[in-house]
Amino acid sequence: MRILVISDIHANAAALEAVLSQADPHDAVWCLGDLVGYGPDPNECVARIRALPNLTCLSGNHDKAVLGEIDPDTFNDDARSVIIWTRNALAAEHLEYLRGLPVDLSMDDFTLVHGSPRQPVWEYILNRSIACDNFPYIDTPYCLIGHSHIAGGFGEGVPCFDVPPDYAKPLTLSEQRLILNPGGVGQPRDQNPMPAFAILDTDARTWQYRRASYDPRITQRRMLELGFPERLVLRLAYGW
Ligand code: ZN
Repeated sequence: MRILVISDIHANAAALEAVLSQADPHDAVWCLGDLVGYGPDPNECVARIRALPNLTCLSGNHDKAVLGEIDPDTFNDDARSVIIWTRNALAAEHLEYLRGLPVDLSMDDFTLVHGSPRQPVWEYILNRSIACDNFPYIDTPYCLIGHSHIAGGFGEGVPCFDVPPDYAKPLTLSEQRLILNPGGVGQPRDQNPMPAFAILDTDARTWQYRRASYDPRITQRRMLELGFPERLVLRLAYGW
């Protein structure tokens, strides 16, 4: 089975559409949370995601903040302002959909979380030391994460090590235990503004990093019209 793995759509409909139209053929979609927050198109994005066939979807910290399950005051001013806007903008049926999403799941050899196995909603796995602390919390060979919006992975070992993303050839899934992040769709933070995703092939046992291409100005214009914070508008063009 070939699975499209996406995370952190962040209400960026143009980026999501680019991924869905440019992704390699796949049989299922795994979405690792943060469908909304930061971006101008929460209704479009939740509607598009929930209609995908063979979808498995998690909740992220922004989704939970929009639902009132996390205090928006724990976010920075820019993020908080869009969380509160989203709460009012999102249709009731989409809020209900978000409310039903789990924070972690096991799918055969894969644990799926938004943040980390140790703290599925909040913790960022940004380096191999944090990754190393988290391997004991994983019951499967592999763990898929989002939240940092940075494509890449970590391998278990003494010491744990980085597995940088290779866009040219797929990573073979061997005995080595791995934590893998497809990167962010709607607000990438690895100095590349293009939407990130991955294709997991469970028969070939491979994980392929990919980037879609789109015009961030489409989303930036919508954000400006809505009066969103300038920093959030600007960062989309730079990928941070
Ligand atoms: Zn996020």
